[in-house]
Amino acid sequence: MSTPASATATELAQRIEAGDTLSDADWLLAVQEVSTGELLRLADGVRRRWHPEPEVTYVIDRNINYSNVCSAICTFCAFYRKPGHAEGYVLPNEQIFRSVEEMLELGGSGVLMQGGLHPDLPLDYYETLLSELKRRYPGIYLHCFSPPEIVNISEVSGRPIPEVLIRLRDAGLDSIPGGGAEILVDSFRKRRATKCTGVEWLNVMETAHDLGIRTTATMMFGMGERLEHRIEHMRMIKDVQSRTNGFYAFIMWTFQPDNTPLGRAYPDRVPADEFLRWFAVGRLYLDTIPNHQVSWLTQGLDVGRRALHGGANDLGSIMIEENVISAAGASHKATEEMLRGVIESEGFRAVRRNAAYERLDP
Ligand code: SF4
Repeated sequence: MSTPASATATELAQRIEAGDTLSDADWLLAVQEVSTGELLRLADGVRRRWHPEPEVTYVIDRNINYSNVCSAICTFCAFYRKPGHAEGYVLPNEQIFRSVEEMLELGGSGVLMQGGLHPDLPLDYYETLLSELKRRYPGIYLHCFSPPEIVNISEVSGRPIPEVLIRLRDAGLDSIPGGGAEILVDSFRKRRATKCTGVEWLNVMETAHDLGIRTTATMMFGMGERLEHRIEHMRMIKDVQSRTNGFYAFIMWTFQPDNTPLGRAYPDRVPADEFLRWFAVGRLYLDTIPNHQVSWLTQGLDVGRRALHGGANDLGSIMIEENVISAAGASHKATEEMLRGVIESEGFRAVRRNAAYERLDP
């Protein structure tokens, strides 16, 4: 038997549906009081305003981590190696080109390229890599270098952020991934990471938008932050969006504790229901961002299915694995069929897109 909704929950749901402006305190109450089903229904309404067609998109991407060397220390990260560590690497450009060729052969349209905060690679390195990729593979979409990397490139090269962004854009950068946001509220963030501050992250994005470079935005939660921090994080993104309209997608996921120092203190994953409630509130709160992606990789397919009826218009994503081509091809095809099957079994048409959210299927 379901519990009757409280008067507060009913009133909040009515105000959300009527399009009233809610305070951050109201949103905090809504995510705690309104039922999951109701939040998902309301979020679905916003998604239908942006995307009335019964379609769900997905992308075939290749994630290339050009280097794992990082001068920052983030307690939630299992990826980085300190400078000088025996397992640190910078991929030779030829290896990156081979990965791109495999991706193109498998029907992919672009690369998501990110790495650690390398203490020595100069701006020239990134410019040459981008321009060489565009020269060799015309039409390839380059979604590269999250704000912490941009701040690092600026510091290593001694060049200001706008100049770094202009030079990367002119070398072929199409858009910037919203990684490295986690929780942007600096009073909390500084306890978890030594990489760029939340204010710096937002500044990179706003500057990029002003220069005509569009970006995505993200939130990673479940690492000991307060619920207020999650709302404040979304407000910081919404404020930039209200000035620039440059965020074209929002993606949230949860802290993955395995093999991280922080995982010893916070070993439990965010439960599916909590994720879905925040996913729905993300769609409702950030209703000025057109695309909201649910990640089946971190939450599992069942959660992905529910989110398709609760605000998500994109199921992300198919990452071609860093393997030999035949193995990568086989697993990629299986994953694409599976993903299309999930989308179609939920009553939507599955549409392949590129990293700019432009449809590739007719
Ligand atoms: S900046 Fe932080 S999250 Fe990114 S690679 Fe370095 S340690 Fe990991």
